[in-house]
Amino acid sequence: MPRAINRRLFLGRTAGVGVGALFARAVGLEARSNPGGIGRVPILVTSHSNQTGQRAAEQAWELLSAGGSALDAVELAANVIEVDPEDTSVGYGGLPNENGVVQLDASVMDGATYNAGAVASLEGIKNPSSVARLVMERTDHVLMVGPGALALAKSFGFEEEDLMTERSRARWLEWRENRSESDDWGPPDHLKDRAEARIGGEPAFHYGTVNVLAVDASGDVAGITTTSGLSWKIDGRVGDSPIIGAGLYVDNDVGAAGATGRGEDVIKSCASYFMVERMRAGRTPQQACEDALEMIRRRYERLNLDFMPGEKFVALNRDGDYGCAWSYESRGLPQMTARDSGGLTVYEGVQFGA
Ligand code: ASP
Repeated sequence: MPRAINRRLFLGRTAGVGVGALFARAVGLEARSNPGGIGRVPILVTSHSNQTGQRAAEQAWELLSAGGSALDAVELAANVIEVDPEDTSVGYGGLPNENGVVQLDASVMDGATYNAGAVASLEGIKNPSSVARLVMERTDHVLMVGPGALALAKSFGFEEEDLMTERSRARWLEWRENRSESDDWGPPDHLKDRAEARIGGEPAFHYGTVNVLAVDASGDVAGITTTSGLSWKIDGRVGDSPIIGAGLYVDNDVGAAGATGRGEDVIKSCASYFMVERMRAGRTPQQACEDALEMIRRRYERLNLDFMPGEKFVALNRDGDYGCAWSYESRGLPQMTARDSGGLTVYEGVQFGA
């Protein structure tokens, strides 16, 4: 959900570099934070730093280090994370919409062929990123949605499955009972345990998505963004993840970028395209991520000084350097996983505004 950023803190931190000059002096501006992750090609990075993210990176590295393509590597890593039942932000076990239906969004982009594919509101398929790849490679379209995307997946032999796990169903049922005092979900009032009385008030929304970006030994760049989207979303809501330029962008001459967090703002700001363009202009991946957050902050400046959506951005350039930044105030530093010939690194990026 949108959260307030402490404007005073933010200005304090950026005062030294001159907030007003940030965009005027695009190239050559000193890094405001840290220099970012320094990697070597081939390389694969993911926004996930948990055990599954690390396992996915290791498995994809096997492929990449044996000369495999960036495209195959990002798909493999995304698939590992999508089928993890414990991960409630992606694929199988992802949190459902308000009706208890899991609707998945995913996109893939291949720098080598300047090609892209995506699916939105896809139900019943564990690996939406692989369906996105089919849209990219086996149709002349870029984005397919809902029942059409499902029919396409089934025509290629994908099995339709229930994507709810015990865990995701329990969380959804809990949300449904607690979302309001004025509906009829939950035990009858006279039997309600006072201690368990419905809380009402603010519903607990959950964001979460995975970005996987890679450069292979031939210097080709590819990326995937895959998600179950905003939990408890309105039926049919589509986030940024399947929107090329928003949740993902890849350019073989530059690198790749991906987004997680409040998708509405990533769509409006075309954040991933923006990050790639910042890298093209000479910014490091780390700086590009911070620039994108700054760009979004500025859009709201004249409307609401205290508003800043919660976003996490990751970027990788074609030399293998990478970075990440987020605008979450209370969660410490953002992390991402990188795998190259130097081994596995869990990199800590920059908390924007801290
Ligand atoms: N960006 C995703 C969406 O808005 C959710 C997330 O990354 O948490 O659907």
